[in-house]
Amino acid sequence: MYELINRGLIVTEQLLKWIRPDIRELSAYHVPDASGMVKLDAMENPYRLPDALLPQWQQGLLSVALNRYPDPAATALQARLINVMQVPQGQSIVLGNGSDELIQMLALAVAAEERCIMSFEPGFVMYSMIARFTGMGYVGVPLADDFTLDMEKTRAAIEQHQPAVIFIAYPNNPTGNLFDADAVEEIIRIAPGLVVVDEAYHPFALSSFMPKLNDYDQLLVMRTVSKMGLAGLRLGLLCGGQELISEINKVRLPYNINVLTQYTASFILDNAGFLEGQAEMIRADREHLLKQLAAIEGIEVFPSQANFILFRVTRGGATAVFTSLCNDGVLVKNLDKPGPLQSCLRVTVGTAEENQAFMQALENALHS
Ligand code: PMP
Repeated sequence: MYELINRGLIVTEQLLKWIRPDIRELSAYHVPDASGMVKLDAMENPYRLPDALLPQWQQGLLSVALNRYPDPAATALQARLINVMQVPQGQSIVLGNGSDELIQMLALAVAAEERCIMSFEPGFVMYSMIARFTGMGYVGVPLADDFTLDMEKTRAAIEQHQPAVIFIAYPNNPTGNLFDADAVEEIIRIAPGLVVVDEAYHPFALSSFMPKLNDYDQLLVMRTVSKMGLAGLRLGLLCGGQELISEINKVRLPYNINVLTQYTASFILDNAGFLEGQAEMIRADREHLLKQLAAIEGIEVFPSQANFILFRVTRGGATAVFTSLCNDGVLVKNLDKPGPLQSCLRVTVGTAEENQAFMQALENALHS
């Protein structure tokens, strides 16, 4: 028995030494169990497909050939995305299994040991994680205290590190603010390599670098359908000049957009009218929630142009508030750790009822 356990340990140790030390050091991306809770932790759109569209969608589903590989280029879907997302004429796109996969493709296409990816902190964690996965360096330029771009630090970091790619989330996650457009444009101009403006939250910000694609060869604009109410489909797009996009496309795995996603996304984009209505409701509810949060003593709320709000608990601990919210059945994101997000939580804008449940639970947490 002991011998077996010992053997097991030794075998495991011998196997694990083949896993790169920098990978063994990482923790896997953690997704908490939200069953039965008001789920306001992941910037999902709370609204489902309108009932009126369901019969037609289901009918079309019957003719999807599950036995066949998907169209490798997703040509029909690409054409619809170019149209709905207003990709400028002459620009190309490549599709990803979520925009996460596009970040990975881009990193794979540029990766070399002495090269780095640059972004801003606090920021979206996948930029640094994927830099690590692909064996690249990562430079996170700190944002100013109010989470705006610190251009002095940014210029110096670009000069010093000469990044292969700079990711700018516009609006930024997890802070929710939209960076100054002139500052972003300066970064595009002075960057030695590629610049990706990640517009995951575009439906809630209504400000875009898409029209600038024709002005800058080094600029790429990334979008996703995730926040538009289609997170379950896993579909993102990277837009840019034809030559650059066709190089990035070489590292894409064939058939990365499955038949169900291609069919459903195409169907929805053909009936896209309802999407703007949903985004409009979320924008209005965000404004309402911002006002309500700002009126609470013990809460500092940050401006948001996204479908979520970052706030700081200034009286009592944020982690205690997070736990109390969980106990009341409301799941938000706990960002409370030493650093710029100390005492901060992030809440996604849900339906009016969900937002109400959150506000009620927050009041309970602060007064218990
Ligand atoms: N970019 C940003 C800024 C994000 O916050 C997220 C998801 N939270 C993504 C990209 C990834 O989105 P997806 O993979 O769902 O398209």
